[in-house]
Amino acid sequence: MLKTPDTTLLRTVAEERAALNVIGGKMVGAKSGARIEVACPSDGRVFASIPRGETADIDAAVASARHAFEVGPWSRMTATERGRVLTRLSGLVEQHADELAALESRDTGKPARQGVADVTAAIRYYEYYGAAADKAHGSQIPFLEGYTAITTREPHGVVAGIIPWNYPLQILARVAGAALAMGNTLVVKPAEDASLTTVRIAELALEAGCPPGVFNVVTGYGAEAGAALSGHPGVDYVTFTGSPGTGTAIQQAAAGNNRGVTMELGGKSPQIVFADADLDAALPVVVNAIIQNGGQTCSAGSRVLVEKPIHEEFTAELARRFEALVAEPHDRDGDLGPLINTRQAERVAAMIAEAEAAGFPVLAKGSVADDAPQGGHYQAPVLFGAVDPLSALGQEEVFGPVLAAFSFEGEEEAVRLANGTEYGLVAGVWTRDGGRQHRVAKRIRAGQVYVNAYGAGGGIELPFGGFGRSGHGREKGFEALMDMSATKTTVFNHG
Ligand code: ADP
Repeated sequence: MLKTPDTTLLRTVAEERAALNVIGGKMVGAKSGARIEVACPSDGRVFASIPRGETADIDAAVASARHAFEVGPWSRMTATERGRVLTRLSGLVEQHADELAALESRDTGKPARQGVADVTAAIRYYEYYGAAADKAHGSQIPFLEGYTAITTREPHGVVAGIIPWNYPLQILARVAGAALAMGNTLVVKPAEDASLTTVRIAELALEAGCPPGVFNVVTGYGAEAGAALSGHPGVDYVTFTGSPGTGTAIQQAAAGNNRGVTMELGGKSPQIVFADADLDAALPVVVNAIIQNGGQTCSAGSRVLVEKPIHEEFTAELARRFEALVAEPHDRDGDLGPLINTRQAERVAAMIAEAEAAGFPVLAKGSVADDAPQGGHYQAPVLFGAVDPLSALGQEEVFGPVLAAFSFEGEEEAVRLANGTEYGLVAGVWTRDGGRQHRVAKRIRAGQVYVNAYGAGGGIELPFGGFGRSGHGREKGFEALMDMSATKTTVFNHG
């Protein structure tokens, strides 16, 4: 397993790093020469820069990916050979684990151990999809006398991956792992706030034997490089993880070319705690599910629904734990780090102010370390009680360390509240009653339901995706291989 992070490395890694795009196997700047400065969320200090890619850079990357797809050698390699490239990439990520974890932590502001956890997950994704590449296969269909009908899984072609800033290493790995395993080629647009590990992984992919043009990266702003990529006619399929509004814009752009999309758009995920639950087991998991990554997690458990008889006791204990939480710079490896940028910090602060103005009681507030650098984007965790389920805080994703508590009476109300938002990504159900575990889990409208657990172990093997506003399509696990390919039916007349 990986070592605990080296804090010296955390401070120094990527000092003055000037990242480049990866197009056709070459490291290149933006054609315009323009660059974007990259600041560390912990102190606001610029420590790196990335190319400001635009339409011309996207054109070059898509052309390179198309050439690699059509001319090969990627498309002529066997699935086993493609899998071996991914397996080698997994090994290289492990070899560079310390550097990648430190870089991710510095670029996103996440506590050092979360950077390590993200690298560990990335290693697993490439390992998993490396091993899966030659196991996704079609079938033979009983058909008319004198005919043979078969189905095969075909790659889409050029896949565009638009990656958010909250878990770049992990989300890139789930996209690239599944897309490359199925024989697609890739153009990735990482988030302008956190692109550095994506560029590094594309470099390592070349070292792992990915032919030039198979794994391209263009950094830049969403409205420039991102928009050019999602609406590009040379792209065959678009996969996106991020906010619902941006998801709509990307789907509209892809619809201009009638291209397929996978959309993972976040949630307002509930944890339902029944009176018979093992409260000692539930408490740390409920806290962690909203504090991890400062609440900037699609699957954050941002609502806790507590059954009436234990509501007072459970929320009092939650409050005690919230009060002890401290936001600190990433290299202190504290409870939580800063938020990603000023815009996000202002957005979260505004949602907290709105909830306070609506009169919802603040049951507890954590703190920001006294000596946290001024330029950092820190937000103390907040626990709200008696939240109106129909209020903004009851309905909208905050993407910050803000937990909304509600009370309920009985299964019916629990299910109604849990399903009472437009989202449906993840849910947690805490109860010792076996029958209730099944009844409630079955009725929850979410892509993943955990019983007496939440987000168990990162679960790279577990299909992940949403209902409703949380998006559509499935990532992770074997099922992602189906999203990253299409069924072809071939019929032979025996003559
Ligand atoms: P945020 O609003 O916090 O930046 P987004 O969901 O908008 O989160 O961003 C996720 C990713 O989508 C980033 O890589 C971003 O650059 C990209 N993006 C933002 N706007 C667009 C757009 N209009 N078209 C394509 N990509 C976009």
